[in-house]
Amino acid sequence: MSPASAFSTRVVAADEAGIEETAAILREDGIAAIPTETVYGLAGNAFSFDAAAKIFEAKDRPSFDPLIVHIPPPPRAVGKRLIKWLWDWGVIHPHGLPVTQWGRVSALMDVFWPGPLTIVLPRGDRIPEIVTAGLPSVGVRMPRHPAAASLLRRLDFPLAAPSANPFGRISPTSAGDVMAGLGGRIPLILDGGPCEAGVESAIVQPLLTGRIRLLRPGAATAEEIGRVLGEPLELAPRIPVQEAPAAPGMLENHYAPERPLWMLPHALPELSGMDRRAMKWAISQAQRSGAAVLAFRRHDGGVRESLEAGLGMPLQWFELSEDGDPVQCARELFKALRAMDGSGAGTLFCEPPPGQAGLMYAIGDRLGRASRPLPALC
Ligand code: AMP
Ligand code: MG
Repeated sequence: MSPASAFSTRVVAADEAGIEETAAILREDGIAAIPTETVYGLAGNAFSFDAAAKIFEAKDRPSFDPLIVHIPPPPRAVGKRLIKWLWDWGVIHPHGLPVTQWGRVSALMDVFWPGPLTIVLPRGDRIPEIVTAGLPSVGVRMPRHPAAASLLRRLDFPLAAPSANPFGRISPTSAGDVMAGLGGRIPLILDGGPCEAGVESAIVQPLLTGRIRLLRPGAATAEEIGRVLGEPLELAPRIPVQEAPAAPGMLENHYAPERPLWMLPHALPELSGMDRRAMKWAISQAQRSGAAVLAFRRHDGGVRESLEAGLGMPLQWFELSEDGDPVQCARELFKALRAMDGSGAGTLFCEPPPGQAGLMYAIGDRLGRASRPLPALC
């Protein structure tokens, strides 16, 4: 039986009964989509080869892309005791990092857990290699969504959970998004409402050099993490699609809508006549007519009208926020990309993010991977 027709997917509310039903599936090595504060995850027993294999199959995820392991919030265990608990549980391994780095890891756990920070640590004995794509390290995170926490507390194993979308596509921020991408491929979606953050966790890795590297910017900002460490994070280079990645969330072409998405060189009010000509060229290349524009803020009618007049066509407008508020923009980003993709417009454009500070860094990272820069015409 092909995975596409293997299940009739049920959506259950994240109440007591729904969480217990999800737990029952997971205890039998099944998989289920669950809400977290970042995006929806596709969860399975992180100690089970079979459960991990089902996650890879349902997502069409290449085997080189490791899964993040989610752990429950243990009562009162903080800092070093939390690390010890993770060693004892077989999630992480005590060796492979200098003592000073464990100290910094424990400081990060104290401040950011439960929450949207994944820490890459030496892999524990009970995590099968399939989960970490053969890497000797494992990404660990403690989610703070109440339904995810309640579910994890009922289980005697942690949950491997990548984003609950087909590989390379836009991450889901609602149960409906999960259904659109994985309906028929998984038995159950636990519906905990729309996700609070809307972008994935930040991922950091303590290095043998003594630095902490940011592998993926995310809902915990690089500035916040750097403040706790007392120094800026080391930034990981982006990896071109053709090369084998050490961390595939770093692939350049990821989070992609199905239609071409072009990133404009400037915010809408600053677009030149030359930029508009490039937009016309992009529209002429598309197989379908119509165009849609993603803006970070609501621009006044004059800005929109002048672009429509310049292009000689009406546009569909998608705005992430009223006034450019980063929290709002992050929450709306994936939803807006999906809506644009489903809008029927043949060509999609987006504004470049206004700056790189705080959450805008993660937003720009995702948008950069979902889009290509609009070429300059000469
Ligand atoms: P997702 O959960 O779909 O956002 O994807 C998980 C991402 O976390 C992967 O694509 C990697 O980029 C990253 N990741 C997970 N485990 C590791 C690890 N052991 N080392 C490096 N990166 C990791
Ligand atoms: Mg993902």
